[in-house]
Amino acid sequence: MISTDDLLACLSIRAESPLQKLESKWPSSDKVEIWVKRDDLLHPIISGNKWRKLKYALLDIVAKNTSRVISFGGGYSNHLHALAYACHKLNIHFTAIVRGDYSQNPTPMLDDINRWNTEICYVDRKTYQRRNDADYLAQLSNNNEDVVIIPEGGSQVSAATGVSEIVSELDLEFDYIVAPVGSGGTLAGLISGVTHLKTKILGIAVLKGPNYLEQQVQDLLPDIKFSDHGEILHDYHFGGYAKSNEQLKEFCQDFAEQASIQIEPVYSGKLFFAARDLVTRQRFPQGSRILLLHTGGLQGAR
Ligand SMILES: *Cc1c(COP(=O)(O)O)cnc(C)c1O
Repeated sequence: MISTDDLLACLSIRAESPLQKLESKWPSSDKVEIWVKRDDLLHPIISGNKWRKLKYALLDIVAKNTSRVISFGGGYSNHLHALAYACHKLNIHFTAIVRGDYSQNPTPMLDDINRWNTEICYVDRKTYQRRNDADYLAQLSNNNEDVVIIPEGGSQVSAATGVSEIVSELDLEFDYIVAPVGSGGTLAGLISGVTHLKTKILGIAVLKGPNYLEQQVQDLLPDIKFSDHGEILHDYHFGGYAKSNEQLKEFCQDFAEQASIQIEPVYSGKLFFAARDLVTRQRFPQGSRILLLHTGGLQGAR
């Protein structure tokens, strides 16, 4: 058995992330109170929300003496990066199934995980699409009980417990928590953490996915009605996943200079851009206390 403290120590992860007040000069920002939960500071390598989602899966993997972990992602995946590093530190064999063939031009992310002894398997789109099919997964694990397969993005039902700890760490009560949405696991976890509070969860979609993303979140919340506790806004994806433009890139640079908080255009940039727009338009009632969740992810911007 391994305790949570042992796991935190082995990976050198902070037990809690700092809560920081944002002093911004955004129009109308004096009408609300804005805070940032700095999950980007949990660890220099393991991306904030990926740690939250993987924490209980990793405890389980270590407790069961798992010999091998398999997971999925793209060539810039923060999830593969975080999981590869954790497995490396824990001495567990890790196989990354990567969408697309980067063998001739690996990304900085792939160079990192290669250094951490990850076995990298490049697959084509069609094979990658089978990432949740039972027969494909059985084939990957060879029906070996020692093998643990973690879904893309680490978004499994057990991820919600780890993510909900973001809420239990807060010593202030918020009217709104705003977070980026990729696969929906983080949003689902936040919702499961606020069911006893009046806090509303606002998701900022980083890709084009109206209805689909709401369904993904709902599927991860078997006992909770998503729409009772939050919603997803679809106006800030800038054309799709990892798409951006000059306006967004400039915003990320200016924000980093003014607030001394690094952000990138795939997730946190879209979150903070949306926050500024919503505050400027006075979308939040006067006096609202708002928390912006910085999920990390700076490695992906290299
Ligand atoms: C993966 C990721 C997200 C999206 O989280 P989901 O749980 O997939 O919605 C947000 N921010 C960062 C930095 C990420 O790496």
